[in-house]
Amino acid sequence: MSLKEEQRRAALEHARIDTLAIRAGQIRTAEGEHAEPIFPTSSYVFDSAAQAAARFKGDEKGNVYSRYTNPTVRNFEQRIAALEGAEAGVATASGMAAILSTCMALLAAGDHVVCSRNVFGTTTNLFLKYLCKFGLEVSFVDLVDLDDWASAIKPNTKLLFCETPSNPICEVADLSALSVLAKKHQCLFVVDNCFCTPALQKPIDFGADLVIHSATKYLDGQGRCVGGCVVGRHEQIEEIVGFLRTCGPTMSPFNAWVFLKGLETLRLRMDAHSANALALAQWLEQQDAVEKVFYSGLDSHPGKPLATKQQRGYGGVLSFRVKGGRDEAWRFIDATRICSLTANLGDVKTTIVHPATTTHGRLTDEQRAAASISDNLIRLAVGLEDIEDLKIDMQRGLDAL
Ligand SMILES: *Cc1c(COP(=O)(O)O)cnc(C)c1O
Repeated sequence: MSLKEEQRRAALEHARIDTLAIRAGQIRTAEGEHAEPIFPTSSYVFDSAAQAAARFKGDEKGNVYSRYTNPTVRNFEQRIAALEGAEAGVATASGMAAILSTCMALLAAGDHVVCSRNVFGTTTNLFLKYLCKFGLEVSFVDLVDLDDWASAIKPNTKLLFCETPSNPICEVADLSALSVLAKKHQCLFVVDNCFCTPALQKPIDFGADLVIHSATKYLDGQGRCVGGCVVGRHEQIEEIVGFLRTCGPTMSPFNAWVFLKGLETLRLRMDAHSANALALAQWLEQQDAVEKVFYSGLDSHPGKPLATKQQRGYGGVLSFRVKGGRDEAWRFIDATRICSLTANLGDVKTTIVHPATTTHGRLTDEQRAAASISDNLIRLAVGLEDIEDLKIDMQRGLDAL
């Protein structure tokens, strides 16, 4: 490594989040390229048979095969770890691969997990349909009810898992209280930080052990790639890396490069998403045909004090109930012209969806009621279009009621 390169890396060690988002983890090759290079290679060559043996044995650090390590992927891992304030990070093929790899690496048959009830639907399915098949036990609790968490813990509980703020009604978990509870019972505390990203919330600062992302959402921010990651302490990340090397759900170098570019503008985008979502939530709250708005930045939301303590902003996702039922909600959605009708979120393009018949359609009526997902509920993931155009689009929906 050149002296200049060493000095450059040392200067970044104490850099702030906006600098890390743009510069952390970058390796510069002898070509002197300014932007991060992509390394689309499946394997790597050795200088000698002895070096090959040393690399395989692990006596010498270095690349062997891209299921193990890839320079572009490593760049992304180091940058997201730096942003979350974590010791280490590992990239995965998707957000679900991140959750699966964490559970497979750190849990065993007979272990018990306590998970908040309103997590991403596929996460619930992963636990109930697949991980339970291999002897894992899972209990679901109310995200904001600490007594519920405490009473669900059993002698074999190894991991607490939550997502905050929740989807779609923006409930806010008390991260400090949950990390204290986890420590008391020697459990790992894992937070899916997909909705806030480290630009708005750093769960490790509140005691979380591991943070999981679907990079597909705000880390990319422009709807281009599927990917995920886990960050935390070396001890656990190394176990997860071991699982990934053996089982294979790793990230491609091209996707890692897209996510690196996404991270560079993460803070600006998250601030802009938060500003647009707050303005739209306040506007919706004033409309007669809107029954209730769920957004943790609103004074009417019970999670606001906690969100203000834990988060730098309230994020881009909000939901609201129109007066009426499913027909009214569908009419509203169908009348919008700018919003994209899609279940995805975390995009510069605003998306609109009817949770009860799409993202949460597989739940039973009772489960939906427990999650406050009524037939007249609509979820928005507010993008970065002009706020006045978004209000006009919402007005199209209101006019159709
Ligand atoms: C989308 C999402 C996931 C799953 O991520 P994929 O990249 O789609 O596999 C997990 N958690 C949350 C909160 C999500 O929104």
